[in-house]
Formats: sequence, C-alpha cells, structure tokens
Amino acid sequence: MPERLFGTNGVRGVVNEDMTSDLALQMGKAIGVVMGGTVAIATDTRVSADMIKMAVSSGIMSVGINVLDLGVLPTPALQYYVKTHDNVRGGVMITASHNPPQFNGIKCISFDGTEASRKEEEEIEAHYYNNIPCALWNSIGDMERIRGAGEEYVNAIVSNVDAEAIREADLKVCLDCANGAAYETSPLLLKKLNVRAITINCNPQGEFPGRQSEPTEENLRDLLSLTRSTRSDLGIAHDGDADRCVFITSDGKFVSGDKSLALLSRYALSKKKGQVVTPISSSSLVEEIVEGSGGTIEYTAVGSPIVARKMMEIGAVFGGEENGGLIFPEQQYCRDGGMTIAKMLECIVKDGSLKIQMSELPVYYTVKKKIDCPDDMKKHVLEYIAKESVGARIDHTDGLKVVFDDGWVLARPSGTEPAFRIFSESKDEETAKERAGKYEALVTGYLNQWFK
Ligand code: MG
Repeated sequence: MPERLFGTNGVRGVVNEDMTSDLALQMGKAIGVVMGGTVAIATDTRVSADMIKMAVSSGIMSVGINVLDLGVLPTPALQYYVKTHDNVRGGVMITASHNPPQFNGIKCISFDGTEASRKEEEEIEAHYYNNIPCALWNSIGDMERIRGAGEEYVNAIVSNVDAEAIREADLKVCLDCANGAAYETSPLLLKKLNVRAITINCNPQGEFPGRQSEPTEENLRDLLSLTRSTRSDLGIAHDGDADRCVFITSDGKFVSGDKSLALLSRYALSKKKGQVVTPISSSSLVEEIVEGSGGTIEYTAVGSPIVARKMMEIGAVFGGEENGGLIFPEQQYCRDGGMTIAKMLECIVKDGSLKIQMSELPVYYTVKKKIDCPDDMKKHVLEYIAKESVGARIDHTDGLKVVFDDGWVLARPSGTEPAFRIFSESKDEETAKERAGKYEALVTGYLNQWFK
C-alpha cells in the first residue's frame, strides 16, 4: 500500500522542503495519467505559484495530456470552469488556502467541478509511487493560455442572484482579499452589481497574504475599523484562495461563519423548503434557525467535500461549514466565496441590514480548545473518552459528540495536525466553559499517564 500523499485538503507542504518541484513534476505525471484528458490549471498569488504550476504542467504534458493555463483564479472559479467546459477532464489548483506564505499545495478537481474524491486521490497516489512511462516525443501534450475564466465565473454568479435588486440598492462595501486569488474577480463582481467597493489587500503584486490569510476576527482588525469608519453596508473578507468568505457589520462587528451560515440558510429556505447540510461541529444556532424556517438539518462528518457530496445525494437546498465555506447548489457543489458575497448582498437588500439581522439571532456560546496529541495516540484518546462518557447521549458521526439538553461537547482528532480538538457549546456561557474544561482535563489526564 503506497504512503498517503493527500491530506484533507490536497497535498500541502513548505515550498522547497516538502513541496518541491520534483514532487510537483511526479504529481503532474500521475494526475495526467488518471485524468486522461485535458486538464485546466490555476493558482493563487503565492511567490511559488509559477514554479509549482510549471512543474505540475510539465508532468501532465509529458504523459501526452494537454494543459489549459487559466492564470490566477479563486479555487471555485477553476471549479466552475472545469464543470462547464466539456473538453476539460479535470482541474488542478495550486494553493495552500489560508496556510502561511511559505506553504503551497496541489488540489485536484474532478470532471464535474467537485473536489476529487478519496478514491481518485488514491489512484493518483498509486501512480505517484510507481514509474510512470512518458509519451513518445511526437505525442506529448501542449499548453494553452486561457483568458476570461474569471469573468465567466463572475457572470455565472450574477445570473444566479437578483442582480437588479442589488444594483438598485446602491450599496457600499469594504473588501479584503488578503492579496489573494480573488483580487480581480471579487472587485469585478461588485462592479457588475453596482456596489461601490473600498478595497484593501487586493493587490496581486503586494506581499501575500497582506494580512494573516485565515479570515478570523483577530486577523481582520483593519477591515473592522475601515468598515465602521466608512459607514459601509458590509465588510467582506476572503481566505487566500477565496473559496471562503466572512462578513463584518456596518458597525464593525465580526460575523462568525456559523452566523452567516444560519442567516443564508434562512434566506434559502424562504424561497424553497428542504434540507440544509452542515458538519456536526457547526453551532446549534444553524439547526435552530433551519428548523424555525421550516427546513430540516442534516449533519455530516467534518470536511467540505463530505458536505458537498451529501448535498448532491439528498438534493439539499443549501449547506456549508462554520468557517465561512458555503455551498450554493444552484451554482456548483463546492465552497464558493464569490457566490457567498452575492447571496449575502441579496439577503441584506431583501431582509434588512446585516447589523439588524445579527442582533435578532439567538445567542450560543462556543468554547474551542486544541490539545497537542501525537497521531498514534488519537485512537486511544477517543476510546478513553468514550468509556468515560458511558450513559450519555453520544453521536459518533465524527469523533465523539456528547449531547446534553442544553448543549453539546465534540471531541475529535484533527485531520491535519497532531492535535485533539474540543468544541463545547451551550446557551449558558459558564456551562460551555465548564464542559470544555472537563473534557480538556480528560484528554490531558489520559495523555499525561503516557508521557510522564
Ligand atoms: Mg480556502
């Protein structure tokens, strides 16, 4: 069995340490063989983008497959291109999303624009670890530069919202792209919707990411104060590859991904009743709002491809993650930062300002803890907490979720780091804190027995 190459979000690493041009070249060959037809490739704005893109492309062409180079694009724009062009068999996105600038990554997209399944990744891995024969000199692939993929994506978004209503509202927003992949598409989208945009970190020649690229409250201080001081209707921020998007209210308050997921669920359900899909780590706020809006909630394990696939399977009306990664089935089955902007604009035009909508939401307190835990201990830790929770209501969808009448605790091994995560939520702040502390003590107590 070959070693596992892919993590939960493609193959990622520090450039010229573990993410090297040699790795990218061999990955390209494996991708070319598995996709078996024209591959579209795009990058975010990292310094290493061209190096990795050229190596992957060279590998793809060496096995006789053509490459379409779409330039710098948000991940969902590449996904949309792959989905809507029949001559394209798959896509490759060169990005490390919100990771620091020394990282880069290779993410594979299936022919239908969704993130590659685990089975496809395993196929690529199997080839990667073998000797891949090259094509004959006269049947190697070629590379064509394609312009306009970003505008195709933006036009599709505009056609999927009530553009006239947004245009007439004469809105003003502040936009922060972290100098990342959406620097061109998101300002263009706003222009097409007649929204005045004050931009920061929208310069592809600027230093990436311009600010820490994870769009958290701490990393968005400049945007918070700019939105407030310019009296804008919204503040908008992407992560590095713009599959995610979070918002700021006109008075400079950060809106967590759970809350925008809840508001846009309610908005989607006001048009069409049905199911909303989200991982079990999302706030119960989402469930409360979905049920109060006549919909039903469907929980999955953590991971956006899992959410997207469940949505396709059951024909859900909406879905997404608590980190600002939202999925709109009318556009495509993947997280879509541009679509999130347009839908939120439509939602505030129709349902009232984000500030007022936020103030009417029920309040939940969530406490999150991260505990260092070696990968080979994760399974034992999980078994131990399960034993300690006997008698409680347990949900095994992902890790261990203990459900109480007034809240829940989720203990789950991280899929990307040697760590264990504890989420505790309740409508009462003290209860949430107390339970988080109790489960943190259980995990550390168990680990300390082993590492005295
Ligand atoms: Mg991302």
